[in-house]
Amino acid sequence: MTKTQQTKIYSRPSQSILSPASGFIQAYDFTLNPYRGCQYGCSYCYAAAFSPNAEMRQDWGNWVIIKENAAQLLQRDLERWYKRHDAPPSIYMSTVTDPYQPVEAKRGLTRLLLEVMLPFKPCLVIQTRSPMIVRDVDLLQRFRRLRINMSIPTGSDRVRRDFEPRSPSVAARLQTMAKLRQAIAPDKGYPPKLSITITPLLPTFWQDCDRFMAQLAVVDRVVIQPFHQASDRSLVASTRSDAIALKTKYAWWYDNEKQSYQQFKEILDRQLSHLEVREGQAGFGYE
Ligand code: SF4
Repeated sequence: MTKTQQTKIYSRPSQSILSPASGFIQAYDFTLNPYRGCQYGCSYCYAAAFSPNAEMRQDWGNWVIIKENAAQLLQRDLERWYKRHDAPPSIYMSTVTDPYQPVEAKRGLTRLLLEVMLPFKPCLVIQTRSPMIVRDVDLLQRFRRLRINMSIPTGSDRVRRDFEPRSPSVAARLQTMAKLRQAIAPDKGYPPKLSITITPLLPTFWQDCDRFMAQLAVVDRVVIQPFHQASDRSLVASTRSDAIALKTKYAWWYDNEKQSYQQFKEILDRQLSHLEVREGQAGFGYE
């Protein structure tokens, strides 16, 4: 085990790397998570529930397990896929970690997996909140069917600092999408589809709204999803206790959450009429 900036980093062989997709993204063949754990440690992260044990769940955000044999497993699985199928698989990377969290800068596992995948021509969706993805433009532009989903749950950096203080700023993420749009032009490669996923929808201060809307226009699709899918489960199933205190801090939004959501959606529809605005599961498909 090594430690970087308080993160405990473990390197372990994994039993598998491609998992059959289910639930929200069941339209895909597989999910692909290069790491277990996530250094961003967002307060609302449902993935904490999949920690190896209760202690690590409590310590979410402070540990990462590198799947050290991920590239070999992926190569094997993709070869097996083509023995049984003519069409390429569809893969969602990632669902319970961020493939471009800080540890990726040194370890390069996500980059290695992209290299493995390229000759197999999968339909690939990458979900991240990290500007580091720009590092891999040389590979990304060679995927014919690629969608990049950038998570930006709020247009207000003050809110971002409360709910996900370790994650990149809102401005950095928006700039990343603009860079990707510019860097992967048709004369340089296959331009990817670009989405911003405002999921879960966190409060955005109304004074930040207009600027945020204007900046969203760089992508093809915007996806929103309420913070709580089921109000009776509230924050308990998907987050740690940190988020409950935050909900209180943002009572001006959460006391009328349905109305706040609806108002935000109406602004999106009005100001981004030239974009796809999708809600929930419908927003996570490749097409
Ligand atoms: S970046 Fe994603 S996986 Fe990582 S802690 Fe935040 S919500 Fe969870």
